[in-house]
Amino acid sequence: MQKEIQQQLDRLKARGVTYVDARYYPFEEANNLVMWNGNLKAAVSTHESGIGVRVLHKGAWGFSASSDLGDLGAIFDKAFDNARVAAERVTFPVRLAEKDAVEARFESPCETDPFEVPLADKIGFLKAMDGKLDRPGVAQRVVALTFVRKQIEFSDSEGSRIEKRITEVFPTLTVNGVDAGGGMHERKFLPGRTGDTRGWESIDPQLFAENAERIVRELNEVLVADECPKDDRAVILLPDIMYLQTHETIGHALELDRILGYELAFAGGSFVTLDDFGSLRYGSEKLTARADGTVVNSPGSFGFDDDGVPAQDNLLIDHGLLVGAITGRQMVEEANARARKQIFKGSSGANRASAFYRVPIERMTNINIDPGSDGTLDDIIAKTEKGIVLDGDRSWSIGSNREQFHFGTEIGWLVEEGKKTKVVKNSTYKGDTVKFWNSLSAVGDRSTWKVHFVANCGKGQPNQIMFLGHGVPVCRFDNVRIGE
Ligand SMILES: [Zn+2]
Repeated sequence: MQKEIQQQLDRLKARGVTYVDARYYPFEEANNLVMWNGNLKAAVSTHESGIGVRVLHKGAWGFSASSDLGDLGAIFDKAFDNARVAAERVTFPVRLAEKDAVEARFESPCETDPFEVPLADKIGFLKAMDGKLDRPGVAQRVVALTFVRKQIEFSDSEGSRIEKRITEVFPTLTVNGVDAGGGMHERKFLPGRTGDTRGWESIDPQLFAENAERIVRELNEVLVADECPKDDRAVILLPDIMYLQTHETIGHALELDRILGYELAFAGGSFVTLDDFGSLRYGSEKLTARADGTVVNSPGSFGFDDDGVPAQDNLLIDHGLLVGAITGRQMVEEANARARKQIFKGSSGANRASAFYRVPIERMTNINIDPGSDGTLDDIIAKTEKGIVLDGDRSWSIGSNREQFHFGTEIGWLVEEGKKTKVVKNSTYKGDTVKFWNSLSAVGDRSTWKVHFVANCGKGQPNQIMFLGHGVPVCRFDNVRIGE
């Protein structure tokens, strides 16, 4: 197949196209198992394969994809035809940032391929976890496992040949309960990856058993708790809500296509402008954020993006100062041209497509916050006079330019004079993005840092659901409005 693809790349190059690439997926498989209140509610398997071809011609992209590889030439011709038609309507001619041609292979670390694990073992895991969650106070319990396995062969007219094999495992536990007033509450467990791999072995039954007991206990505490007060307090965010804060108000806000206005019709824009790079105080001195596509055990690491650019570890915010964005080859050229100066030096390796039949767009890799020097969670609580510890994403609402946010969490613990006092329910907090990040007053050390994965990030038209990660520590923000 690679030989035939190469012939097509050469053929279109000879016909004068600026650039052409192909992503051939010999296979992409997914397997989703859901146990709901002890019953196997879903056992779904999908399999797809095919090729996606992009052609850049006279400043315009053309794309074509098919799972029928019987006439490869026709797929390439269709992409070329689409580019020729689009070239008649170009408003901003596409240019691609330089990259090195590479011949490489990437394999996500995996000891036990989850697709080789017998179904009976997977159901056994679901049942065992369901048993742990089947306790008083729990009205609904859901144990879910999703597995993904894919092979991608990338090649382009600049001489790159990249083979990727990626395996992902996404397990979750969820419990729901109803309080005396009829209010519904939820508590979830998504494991932070502690090992170095991403296969079946990354599911540690002992860790899941412990956390199953914990979320049931915490749900029951929430069910009898008082309402979260309306107040201004320090908020201490644990990683399972800190990841969402980072995702929505740093990650999405710093996607370069969004900054240039390309997502306006779907998921909104960004308050960030090209003038802000190098000058905007995004957060306090304690905030250092990075897009790190090299974290070994995260779904935000994939070796090479769909422009064929290697994964990188790039600073986005350096001690509070905005310095970088999430970029692919195309947008950095357009941003530099529009700004009439070189803001970005090449692609950051973050252009990705969710399937062979979608075009790559700027996506988060692992948008991480560096651990800090303010000690453990207990140390931070001990130094907080009046605050609230928050955990678990329950609801989220974000301004269309990511300039404000309002998040509901699954649980809150009030903190008075350095001590956790009581659990509260319906805990929420809100803020203005830049003001909020500038109120960051404590960042936990490595012991508080957790890689939280996201399996449902949506972007693009048609919508592309993407996997990524967030490595985040416990963080404290001062003077935040809670409870409304
Ligand atoms: Zn998202």
